[in-house]
Amino acid sequence: MGRWGWRLFEGDQDLDAVLLVTQRVESMGVDIESWEHSLSSMVHQTDMLAPAEAIAIYSTAGYAASLANVTVPYIRKKLDTDKLGERLFAATRAKERVPEDLFQKAKYSTIIVGALMMRAGACIKEADLQHLRDLVPQINCTSRRTMWEDHGFRSPGKAQFLAALDHYEPGVARSFQEPSCFKCGRIEADIGHKPLQCKKCKVATYCGKDCQRAQWREHRVSCIHPAQRRVLNI
Ligand SMILES: [Zn+2]
Ligand SMILES: [Zn+2]
Repeated sequence: MGRWGWRLFEGDQDLDAVLLVTQRVESMGVDIESWEHSLSSMVHQTDMLAPAEAIAIYSTAGYAASLANVTVPYIRKKLDTDKLGERLFAATRAKERVPEDLFQKAKYSTIIVGALMMRAGACIKEADLQHLRDLVPQINCTSRRTMWEDHGFRSPGKAQFLAALDHYEPGVARSFQEPSCFKCGRIEADIGHKPLQCKKCKVATYCGKDCQRAQWREHRVSCIHPAQRRVLNI
């Protein structure tokens, strides 16, 4: 099994979907190879299997500043120029009507396009925002770690996506890397303080006691002490 994670862009499924989006942009006649930064470069910091040196770099202030001030604005400009983002939405949405989309890969691809656009802070048409809202309940969502290939959302990722839609503002990049509440999906910018870690597993984070309590029945199964997690290799 490859990478798996609770939140958006933490697992292979999402990172692979970003590569498919990149291919789609290319198929629209855009010379994406010549871009100074790739779409993936906005989200690959969540790659939990990245080499230790890379993970160490991701946590430096210099890297965070260049991601926020150089990489993300660069991609935003690319997506906003000649309405590339809008055309990318149209091309991706057109694929949703494929009848054999059993595992919702086509629909989920639209979700990933939406997440990348919000990550960049690019302009999204009201009709596309509404479409994303309508699409969310149609996508499979798992609340447990699965040992087989899952598809669709994991519940903390779904919450992240919905909170991002609620707080979306063109020109304002939305990070999916920073801690988010596993229940309501909000981040520090929304709640005014950093979400707090679950004291036992140190994986889940919550905006406060109410969300932690509300998610406990679901979270209990996967709330495992770090030392025990190593023994069980999960
Ligand atoms: Zn919350
Ligand atoms: Zn926990």
